[in-house]
Amino acid sequence: MLNEFSYCPRLAYLEWVQSEFAPSADTLDGELQHRWVILQQGNFVDAMEFANADDATNSPTDTSTPTDAANSDVASSVMLSAPGIGLIAVVDKIETLTAVSSEPPEVVPVEYKRSGIPPTDERSYEPERIQLAAAGLILQEKGYRCRRGVIYYIASKTRIDVPFDEPLLIRTHTLINQLKAMVAVGHIPPPLVDSPKCPRCSLVGICLPDETRHVQLTQSQVPARPPSRPVIRTIIPTSDDRVPLYVQEPRAAIGKVGDALQVRSPAPERRVLAERPMRAISQVVLLGDVQISTQTLHALCEADIPIAYFSYGGWFYGLTTPLASKNIELRIAQFARAADRSFAIKIARAFTAGKIENQRTLLRRNHPEPPDMVLAQLAAAADAARNADTFETLLGVEGNAARIYFEHFNGMLKPRPELGKWPVDLPLFANRNRRPPADPVNAMLSYAYALLTKDFTVTCFTVGLDPFMGFYHQPKFGKPALALDLMEEFRPIIADSVVVTLINTGVIGIGDFVSRGGSFALKPEPRKRFLATYERRLASEVTHPIFGYAISYRRTFEVQTRLLARVLTGEVDSYASFTTR
Ligand code: SF4
Repeated sequence: MLNEFSYCPRLAYLEWVQSEFAPSADTLDGELQHRWVILQQGNFVDAMEFANADDATNSPTDTSTPTDAANSDVASSVMLSAPGIGLIAVVDKIETLTAVSSEPPEVVPVEYKRSGIPPTDERSYEPERIQLAAAGLILQEKGYRCRRGVIYYIASKTRIDVPFDEPLLIRTHTLINQLKAMVAVGHIPPPLVDSPKCPRCSLVGICLPDETRHVQLTQSQVPARPPSRPVIRTIIPTSDDRVPLYVQEPRAAIGKVGDALQVRSPAPERRVLAERPMRAISQVVLLGDVQISTQTLHALCEADIPIAYFSYGGWFYGLTTPLASKNIELRIAQFARAADRSFAIKIARAFTAGKIENQRTLLRRNHPEPPDMVLAQLAAAADAARNADTFETLLGVEGNAARIYFEHFNGMLKPRPELGKWPVDLPLFANRNRRPPADPVNAMLSYAYALLTKDFTVTCFTVGLDPFMGFYHQPKFGKPALALDLMEEFRPIIADSVVVTLINTGVIGIGDFVSRGGSFALKPEPRKRFLATYERRLASEVTHPIFGYAISYRRTFEVQTRLLARVLTGEVDSYASFTTR
């Protein structure tokens, strides 16, 4: 962790204190290279038993054969600890130089790096030298003579000597003390400013350095647009290539074949309906009585892929996720903040105002003649939500805005008669109703809201928040209150927008529903079209209203949730909702 701290104190805090980890090409490659080292074994002569070390056998050598010790012992992946300086380290290799006197053995720690030799004066990076020097300090505390280490650059097949001189040891001791102080204080260090390290950092998508700093500056007393205001680099992934796998075939069975998931029709036919590599799947969504084997569940959990369960009608039953995030610090902050009602209402105001603003935007974009009065009322309602001083007032404002919005929802629906999908001159939507939805439009709205609930529940788990402890929606058995909070601002621009598109483009028509006892639900085939349109909407890119870069809606879910997490831990003052124009 010392090398991470040397690279960036915030990185060390995220990884060590908050247990955040995200694999990157660099980390995976590095892991593979180290595996090669771990496969090797060898002897490591105990300094205290040096006198008995004569019968130690030599280990197999590798391409980094010590240059100055033809008869050295080599041990791989050695875990060491030194209580005196409070360090534990796993050293890739330790070479014990052949002893020629009664002195303690001289050892040389070796670290493997996947890259070639870096273009620096020292021919190594500081975090690498610090890591090596820390191993040297541990070995010295354990009684060995250790005056230098070696970095072996795999791509260059070259050993670089790192002498443990005084400046390096002083710097290492300083970093050790600073790292301990950071952990004792328990505050996450600020992000680096415009650092070229960030785009290469595996945690950049979790840390959000530019975004966090931008929000901090926007919310501070710093005058608007100072020269120092950071440019926000698009260094987070703007799209996630993995997509959900939806399975709705009744009694279909999902199994694992090699590194892929295979969906088969029910016995006795057992025909392969679909096969997807697991690396291409972001979540598995089971609609109705789809079967999944225990082995497949284990494999999905291991690969960090959640499994969501829905009824055929679209009721979101629940989720199987890998073990909850280890970031207990964040969940403690979440529960403490939720109990503080004066804090909770600030968050609730932002969610509600964001939703009303986006309702207004959707009407403005899709209604052929949105009444000025309605747009003005919704703008006023968003302002009122921002200033509501009690939850009762906020609920009243939200309810009133919803009534105005849904009174004009029908105006956004423009089914084209030539497509013959909807009855001509029949109002499609009168008012919002649910449980059960009493018309096709309400059935689709409820279905889309259930999918959003699922996606924000998954996102809460990904970020390390408890989806059941909300700020606006109150905790209630089985209700993912935080997921419902977070999705508020996305209801109009994702769920409602998908429904409007499906009707106006004729992708779904009146014949695509079944009706039982006055309640409506989509048939299986149209449901596939519905899900495809929903996923296309999530994959579409939008300019982030605060950060100004293009980002998919799906990725926006995580960015907004991570920003909320920064508010909960006190790093950012207030939550800024996601609104579009
Ligand atoms: S993204 Fe930048 S600021 Fe954040 S942890 Fe990585 S290096 Fe540090």
